[in-house]
Amino acid sequence: MLISKQISKQISQEHFSKLQTRLLLSYLLVIATILGAFSTAVYVLVALDRHEQLDANLRQIAAASASNLEIIQHEYEELTTEDKYSKYKRYIPRSTDGNLMPITLYQLMGKYKADSILELVPNPLTLNGQGVEWFDRQQQLMVREGNLFPPDFWPEIVTPEGKLIQQGNIRSFILPVYSATKSGKSHLLGYVRVTKSTDILEVELHQFQQKLIIGVAIASGLLTVGGLWLTRESLKPVLRSFEQLKQFTSDASHELRSPLTAIRASIAVMQSHPERVHPADVDKLKAIASASAQMSQLVDDLLLLARTDRQAPDRVAWRRIALDEILEDLVDLYSDRAEEANLKLQSQLIPNLKVHADPAQLSRLFANLLTNALQYTPPGGIITVSLRRSHNHALACIEDTGIGIAPDQLPYIFDRFWRADQARSQHQGGSGLGLAIAKTIAQTHGGDITVHSQLGQGSCFQVKIPLL
Ligand code: ADP
Repeated sequence: MLISKQISKQISQEHFSKLQTRLLLSYLLVIATILGAFSTAVYVLVALDRHEQLDANLRQIAAASASNLEIIQHEYEELTTEDKYSKYKRYIPRSTDGNLMPITLYQLMGKYKADSILELVPNPLTLNGQGVEWFDRQQQLMVREGNLFPPDFWPEIVTPEGKLIQQGNIRSFILPVYSATKSGKSHLLGYVRVTKSTDILEVELHQFQQKLIIGVAIASGLLTVGGLWLTRESLKPVLRSFEQLKQFTSDASHELRSPLTAIRASIAVMQSHPERVHPADVDKLKAIASASAQMSQLVDDLLLLARTDRQAPDRVAWRRIALDEILEDLVDLYSDRAEEANLKLQSQLIPNLKVHADPAQLSRLFANLLTNALQYTPPGGIITVSLRRSHNHALACIEDTGIGIAPDQLPYIFDRFWRADQARSQHQGGSGLGLAIAKTIAQTHGGDITVHSQLGQGSCFQVKIPLL
């Protein structure tokens, strides 16, 4: 009983849980895209800003250092020519050919007091990972300060505004320095090159990126929980309306049953006394009888679906039965109809596959599949009913060589009242409930139906029912 209840609940809620999952996934996809785009944009903007800050800092130091170029140049030229600086010159390194090696500002300006030197040095040059170099107008290095200098490279063109260069993790800025003459014309004095390492910046950006990823992960987690709650809340009214609709279908079918039974009984009485019916009304009576029979069938189908939707299946009629017997009976029953339609109906059944089921319902299930196969297979076709065992399930297949179902229509064929247009033009009868009922019956028996079909080639409906 518990299992039946679970199955019934599962059937009615299956559709909604799928819908909820789809909604949640779409929501998460949108959120993930927005979060991804947002965090990437934040990272790019911050990285750009930090690089701009670094460049601004390079320009600032270059401008400050440029104002000292004239003094430095003057001192440097004297250093190389006059002996009176020999006291300081001995601290200055020379290359093997006797030329002066690049010297520091402190070495050059050592003859002055420490205080005045400090005024010349752009602050804070003593920090790690940066350096300033002063060049003459022939781009010959004179003096340098700091501890980071770029590889020997000089760009072809250095505009008066200066030139930024990136070499690996080293960023440098070259600024040409001009002096104004009395005539108002300016001439090139030399260059200042300021260099900084981008290592610290990269480390900072990496740390920022990691924090951003953690933030996005936490936000995604919270949004997933929120999304679950939101989708559940948004589906509640739909679920309520669905329940009301099911209740309405059940009530309406129930209410329609009695008047329809009365109509059918009255028609049956009238048809049993043909002498009382006016000859002109005989055909009309037949049409009314056929239409009311069709309506009764529809009402019964709706009632069956409404009942299985609303409550656990009634297992009173369930018993131990051999599936091959049910299928054999049906093949016998439909053989005449198949012959009339010029179709070959054949069976390949393994005997004694026992299941616990309602025989009337299982007959209904297979009858629906068989009538469909007969309806949608053109004359000369073959319909095969087979039964075999697969692990602890019985597998019954109704296979035809009929019109087949298009791949884009396959997901809908078990929906209630769904019919393919192609089939509609072939066969005007039928309500579009046959497969929905077949699936419901299979599911209430703990099984399922699957379908393989190829347009113009045929279809194969496979019913899986658990064995005893
Ligand atoms: P109907 O009363 O229209 O047969 P069903 O629910 O039994 O309703 O079937 C739904 C639709 O699935 C049919 O209208 C038809 O388009 C398609 N269909 C079902 N069985 C077959 C089959 N054996 N071959 C081709 N199409 C089929």
